[in-house]
Amino acid sequence: MTQIGENTALHVKARQALDTIKPYTPGKPIWEVQQEYGLDRVVKLASNENSLGPSPKALEAIQARLGELHRYPDGLSSNLVNALAQEFGLASDNFVVTNGGDELIVLISQAYLEKGDEIIVPDPTFSEYAFGANLMESPIVKVPLRDGFRYAAEDLLAAVTEKTKIVYLCSPNNPTGTYLPEAELRSFLDRLPERVLVVIDVAYKHYVTADDYSDGIALVREGYPVIALHTFSKIYGLAGIRVGFGAAPSAVIRTLLKVKEPFNVNALAEAAATAALHDEAHIGASRRMNEEGREQLYAGFRKLSMPYTESMANFVLVEIGEQAERIYQQLLERGIIVRYAKSWGFPNHFRVSVGTHEENEIFLKALEELR
Ligand SMILES: *Cc1c(COP(=O)(O)O)cnc(C)c1O
Repeated sequence: MTQIGENTALHVKARQALDTIKPYTPGKPIWEVQQEYGLDRVVKLASNENSLGPSPKALEAIQARLGELHRYPDGLSSNLVNALAQEFGLASDNFVVTNGGDELIVLISQAYLEKGDEIIVPDPTFSEYAFGANLMESPIVKVPLRDGFRYAAEDLLAAVTEKTKIVYLCSPNNPTGTYLPEAELRSFLDRLPERVLVVIDVAYKHYVTADDYSDGIALVREGYPVIALHTFSKIYGLAGIRVGFGAAPSAVIRTLLKVKEPFNVNALAEAAATAALHDEAHIGASRRMNEEGREQLYAGFRKLSMPYTESMANFVLVEIGEQAERIYQQLLERGIIVRYAKSWGFPNHFRVSVGTHEENEIFLKALEELR
């Protein structure tokens, strides 16, 4: 069959800026692998989801909210905002709740990037920062991480120009799992021109076990021009319902609210996130599972002599070797999905999410057989 409407592109031109945008490559979904290879059980360790599942408190809150679905949600997610203000010791006008952390990145880009303003990102890092910049026709300055994928604030500072508008720091960084120690972060902020906005993406903050880590909240409290980006998609296990938030100085929040859609966060998402925020049992169990799982993966990789980067997150970047692409394919055929790291420039690496003990074991055993 011919593709209906393909010729329209000849006459109606899309914005030229869109030529710079590459489609996002997500972890392969479970259903796709099930269909493609005719499998029942699939182990997905590709998107840094919480293998323990969603917060049970969130599920209860969703149930309780269902009867009101004919009503529009609260456009400011006030219940959640108030809970966050309490939790973090900030005011309610220091928060914006968004349809996942991804939406926050787009709002920041729309609100702050004039055409030609530069953003600085570590390389490799989360691809959504570049997506937001490309939408706004902003050049992206990539600063390589150092050996062992360590952050060097020095190198980011050296990349600042008159045109720099935003610096993105992902800590722990996706896909490397490395983080920026608090002292280095502070010294970086103190030396940065005040006209530069810093986005600290702390999506994986709950998994950090280092004690010199900052989730950005104290910096917001102290008045730095910082947005701390948080998500409910990772430890809270709510990736499917889409909710995240930014914490920032009130003037920044006011600006972001100008570009926000009136009802960007749905009612179920708000209720779920508000309940999950204080589900200590679920958070604690998830954290424990992750710490044990990281060690389990490290031990497995050592046994196979595969170098890995020590991670503060719920995934590990591991060097599989020259057979990585073949092994990635064969793992898929067995219903094991990991993330092939080629799109970050590492054709010999995988990024593997930490799963349950059993999932990690299934993966390690298959890896041993296929290598
Ligand atoms: C997962 C993730 C986010 C947020 O994702 P959402 O599901 O849109 O909330 C943000 N930053 C990083 C680095 C992530 O890995």
